[in-house]
Amino acid sequence: MRHEINAAWILRSYGKRSYMEEIRLRACGKVNLGLDVTGRRPDGYHLVRMIMQTVPVWDEITVRRLSEGDGRILLSCDLPEIPSDERNLAWRAADLFRKEQNVTAGVQIMIRKQIPAAAGMAGGSADAAGVLEAMRQLFVPEIPAEEMDRMALRLGADVPFCLRRGTYLAEGIGEKLTKVGDLPHCFMVIVKPDFGVSTPWAYQALDEYLEQYGADPEGLHPDIDGIIQALQKGDLPETAAHMENILELPVAREYPVISEIEIHLMEAGALKAVMSGSGPTVFGIFTDEKKANKALEQIGGERYGKFKVEF
Ligand code: ATP
Repeated sequence: MRHEINAAWILRSYGKRSYMEEIRLRACGKVNLGLDVTGRRPDGYHLVRMIMQTVPVWDEITVRRLSEGDGRILLSCDLPEIPSDERNLAWRAADLFRKEQNVTAGVQIMIRKQIPAAAGMAGGSADAAGVLEAMRQLFVPEIPAEEMDRMALRLGADVPFCLRRGTYLAEGIGEKLTKVGDLPHCFMVIVKPDFGVSTPWAYQALDEYLEQYGADPEGLHPDIDGIIQALQKGDLPETAAHMENILELPVAREYPVISEIEIHLMEAGALKAVMSGSGPTVFGIFTDEKKANKALEQIGGERYGKFKVEF
């Protein structure tokens, strides 16, 4: 079924309009239709130009207010490998919101994960954005969007995008967002192999790669403007033709299965297949739903994360 990203925040709420007790919502992940690294700030952060696309693969987040005076933040997650204390970005989002907005009540947060972790799909950032949005609705519904963006950025460069959702150009360290044309109607097959990739490692591997081969070898940088123009025209084949991720060079060199999945998706009829973010998730764009279904069916083992979504 075609998915309307923006209509899909809230799953359920309990309580009165003036006093919400509990909110359940969908925190959606993302893929990168394109990702370029253009330089580094003096503080070491990489400067990027990337096209971010929200995908209808989500974690279900429930936030319930505790009684007044009980200031705890209690978090549980259905995946034991995800930390459930202050190391969890969703926990930190609740903590930041309480401090910045002078909220005295604590909250109980329950996360049902579906977005694969350490996958290049911004799972942690999506959960943090989901908690901020839930806390806004529970405690301070009138907060302006700019204030929400500011809190989001304090949690991580991808969090403001996860709050906005849709198709955006992200620049700076990922926080400068500009709306671009929506992804035209298509099917996307998303495949996450059975291992994770650390984002800092991927950027470091890129730095080493560039040192080895020179900072600007011919044809190394993806044509991000080409993607923007193609989206503006609503041209899917042209969008797909420009899709590329500079992090794929060093990451796929270390993990060849990434290229193998891409070849599989292309042979199955994808217009294009590329790695998302720092990997290892790979996604392919299809116009033919039957081919997308077949590609999904034939790939990977039991432990692969696999999704087919429609735009
Ligand atoms: P990105 O695309 O933003 O680089 P990612 O998909 O590579 O993100 P995440 O899924 O956000 O990475 O998780 C990276 C690490 O962060 C995990 O190994 C996990 O231990 C930790 N983490 C903290 N909070 C969360 C959360 N709510 N969900 C998933 N991982 C979390």
